Amino acid sequence: MAVDYDLVIIGASPEGIFAAATAASLNARVALVEQPFKGHLSRSDAIYSRTLTRAIGFSKQFKDVSECGWFSFSSNSEITPTPSIQLGEVQSWAKQVLCYQAEYNSLAILASLGVDVIMGSGSFCELPRQAFIVKERRLRSRAYLIATGSAPTILDLDTLEQIGYLTTADLWQENNLESIGDRLAILGETPIAVELAQNFARLGKDIYIISESQRILPAEDPEVSQLIQAVLEAEGVKILTASPVTQVKSIERKKWVQAGDRAVEVDEIILALGRSPNIQGLNLEKVDVKFGIRGIKLNKKLQTTNPRIYACGDVAGGYQFLHIAQYEASIAVKNALFAPYFHVDYRTIPWAIFTTPQLGRVGMTEAQARKRYGKDVFVVRQYFKSITFAQVLGENTGFCKLVVRSNGEILGAHLVGSEAAEYIGTIALALQQKIKLRAIANLFSPFPTLSDILNKSAREWQRANLNRNKTLHNFLKSLFICRRNWSS
Ligand SMILES: Cc1cc2nc3c(=O)[nH]c(=O)nc-3n(C[C@H](O)[C@H](O)[C@H](O)COP(=O)(O)OP(=O)(O)OC[C@H]3O[C@@H](n4cnc5c(N)ncnc54)[C@H](O)[C@@H]3O)c2cc1C
Repeated sequence: MAVDYDLVIIGASPEGIFAAATAASLNARVALVEQPFKGHLSRSDAIYSRTLTRAIGFSKQFKDVSECGWFSFSSNSEITPTPSIQLGEVQSWAKQVLCYQAEYNSLAILASLGVDVIMGSGSFCELPRQAFIVKERRLRSRAYLIATGSAPTILDLDTLEQIGYLTTADLWQENNLESIGDRLAILGETPIAVELAQNFARLGKDIYIISESQRILPAEDPEVSQLIQAVLEAEGVKILTASPVTQVKSIERKKWVQAGDRAVEVDEIILALGRSPNIQGLNLEKVDVKFGIRGIKLNKKLQTTNPRIYACGDVAGGYQFLHIAQYEASIAVKNALFAPYFHVDYRTIPWAIFTTPQLGRVGMTEAQARKRYGKDVFVVRQYFKSITFAQVLGENTGFCKLVVRSNGEILGAHLVGSEAAEYIGTIALALQQKIKLRAIANLFSPFPTLSDILNKSAREWQRANLNRNKTLHNFLKSLFICRRNWSS
């Protein structure tokens, strides 16, 4: 029996909008169902967070350059004036960016591309035939894509509701950012927790990161989380790891958090524990779509346990980065419209954590590579303190760690350094196109730039690789001895 659509997408998330535009550009018949606005979108958090990091970065740079004497201030006072951040202005700027974003990614643009945009909350039904019901319309389609995103995970602790807390979403509401107290406990070890902690510490707040894990950023290479932990602690952040929160209580208008065997007194608790899927009311059980607390269960083709229903982005509890959500959408759309043939391959997709210094990462950690390739794994490191432009910027903290096979195949790259997110893409492309490290050794970046560290690391690997290759090493040695002897 004929159906009305090739693809019905649920959720106008960045990945849902991307999927709809992609499918429409392929002349597929597409519907996109978006629920009435519920006041919070995690893409907004990303923009608010980035804008705050940028503003705080400027004020830190201003303080740093004024201390290194580059500028003289005509004011009579001995004290170097330090800019104080206008959080309200920073938020308005972020709001402006969100307006631009909304313009470029508007549902009206999708409708003009031929997408049937339906505003309403709907749910799946199985009988008499599988469909998505919204506003009394039965949307019958060859395939469906769930892209409803996620919401902040709330800690399941009795007294927490009563004591009160803020999620990462609440921070940007009303004037919470301005009125938040001076002592904060940030619960979680996620990139969001770490970015927030550094920002608040740089705003002069007294910050605790409280994590159940053995280390912050547990998904990252241990050398990366160690360095970022050291930077945060040097900036005054107190990090309590392996410290599950077992109790919160309020005493004399202060909030007490029992974390492991320590109790800390704070003004506010911020939950940055990760994300929970937006699946309420979708009736997934009725259409055999299995899910867990972290998200909808998917195979490598992004099919749910119901092969005609796909999902992508934060609702599946994966990497929770906007660009990765859109990458997943690109795979799901191909599989849904043509044939379920395409697999996701996250090994070639980079991501970033916007602390200062930034993390840029792609591919395997050293431990993952050794587990997979055993002895045929080599690690090469270069430090930003040896990079000219990092010295010019006065941002010498950090390293480039490349994980490579003896044949030069790149398995992973971990860059912790200034603007690392901007040039991790070079290694990601090499990984994606199976380009060997020697090609990066022959890629001379403009001087002086930070990306010079990639070339320097690759050349260091080449040198070490030559030293490991005794035959070639000895051959070259004897060749040049001969040539010297022959030359007059
Ligand atoms: C503090 C913070 C900082 C971040 N920083 C970054 C960063 O620097 N870089 C990065 O790549 N990512 C970052 N992210 C993650 C990024 O924001 C998300 O991965 C990305 O925006 C996708 O989010 P989402 O899928 O949750 O979609 P959302 O933006 O939350 O959209 C979900 C959409 O689905 C709709 N919806 C929900 N339920 C239903 C339903 N039942 N029916 C119909 N529609 C529904 C909602 O109305 C909404 O439009 C950050 C996230 C946070 C919280």
